[in-house]
Amino acid sequence: MFRLWYSLDMMYRDTRDASRTVSFRQAVLQGMDSETGGLYIPERIPTLPSSFLNKIPVPSFRDIAFEVSKLFIEEEIPESDLMAIVVDAFPFTAPITPVDPTTYVLELFHGPTCAFKDFGARFMARTMAYFNRSEKEPLHILVATSGDTGSAVGSAFYGVEGIDVTILYPKGKISPLQEKQLSTFDGNVRSLCVEGTFDDCQKLVKTAFTDATLRDTLRLSSANSINISRLLPQSFYYIYGSLLIRDRCPYDSKLDCPSLIVTVPSGNFGNLTSGLLARAMGAPIRGFIAATNANTTVPDWLASGEYTPRSSIATLSNAMDVGAPSNYERIQALYSLNDARQMIAGYWLDDAGTKEAIRSCHDRTGYIIDPHGAVAWKAWDDVRSGAMASMLSGKTTKDGMPGLKGTKNIAPEWARDCADKKCVGMILETAHPAKFGETVRDAIGREPSIPERLERVLSLPDRSQPMNADYTEFKAWLLANL
Ligand SMILES: *Cc1c(COP(=O)(O)O)cnc(C)c1O
Repeated sequence: MFRLWYSLDMMYRDTRDASRTVSFRQAVLQGMDSETGGLYIPERIPTLPSSFLNKIPVPSFRDIAFEVSKLFIEEEIPESDLMAIVVDAFPFTAPITPVDPTTYVLELFHGPTCAFKDFGARFMARTMAYFNRSEKEPLHILVATSGDTGSAVGSAFYGVEGIDVTILYPKGKISPLQEKQLSTFDGNVRSLCVEGTFDDCQKLVKTAFTDATLRDTLRLSSANSINISRLLPQSFYYIYGSLLIRDRCPYDSKLDCPSLIVTVPSGNFGNLTSGLLARAMGAPIRGFIAATNANTTVPDWLASGEYTPRSSIATLSNAMDVGAPSNYERIQALYSLNDARQMIAGYWLDDAGTKEAIRSCHDRTGYIIDPHGAVAWKAWDDVRSGAMASMLSGKTTKDGMPGLKGTKNIAPEWARDCADKKCVGMILETAHPAKFGETVRDAIGREPSIPERLERVLSLPDRSQPMNADYTEFKAWLLANL
């Protein structure tokens, strides 16, 4: 496309070298800057017009998706094509469920694989296919997965023209339901069951990407969570949810203009980064709680100012088992430590606390929450019921509030409002509880009912193919089968 040097088109810059900028198209197709190893972030964050943010009734999820993506994509995808992408990507939405007068659950599991990653993966699949549409040869996506990402990506690309997907997963190291979700695709999505670990899968994929002779024959691409086209669509539901809550919370809570605090159960921190974008665009969100399991790298960073990536620890909320969160790099490129501390409170919870949280949420509200959402529920419940007040008065963390490690003595800008009970909370429920049925049963004595789309996969035939953790074998397979 013709582009003047002073063009106002949105560009994306490298987190490691701000002078390197690319178009949206390049950012989507490249994923990351292969020379610097940096990730792409928008050069500036556009704001939504107040006429849009104040519309009554609140715009639909798709309307928000369209308006927001227009700001980030500008001329690179014409409006009618963009609308088609939005409609095709989001045949589902993100409903808000109130569970008590000051708590709302934003349900992000209504997509085909019952996890929030559907939002990002489906939008990415369609924008990639769009930018790839004039190529004669198909684009081959290789993904290594330790669980949820693979099914979201496989499902997102399923049936998308011009793109083929190969998923690699470690044999015996993912849950039976996850394996079913990965191994039952046909058509343009294939899966390889690798005799080895997740790291072996990742190594095969990385070696393929750096294999010049293979790349001469096949057009390869990755579809991992660092792609900017997965981050953008996650901002849509923060805007949607926060507008819906602003609309109704004065009636539910009887509070006059309460502040909205959003709790995000986090692993790689892509979801929280999307929330920060939404807030910067004008979503009525006052602050965030970054809630993790025992993988406390980011809460520790907020508490100490030191960022220390480490290896991950296995927990009940396994999609959050990340010791070196990739999107930390984006957060620190967008905000100073001090700015982050003003907006975000850190929180963490161990496995015993997580089970207890599933139980307490169910006992007190009747809502069945999954282990990831449970971490968020407990974080919010502690914060609203005194954690901020004791922090402000300089009291040390009392027993039974293990999570306050990350917030100790560093109160976010909104702490006073919470202590004064002028806040309402939005919890992100990132997966359907039926995906973690056993843990839920342990906690509350019964299993959540399984949505039909999950049940259906259970009866499909397994089509995965065995593969050794051996690059020569993997390469030969790729050349023979793609
Ligand atoms: C991936 C995932 C998360 C973590 O999201 P990040 O963007 O990596 O922080 C949380 N919950 C569930 C269910 C997930 O699948």
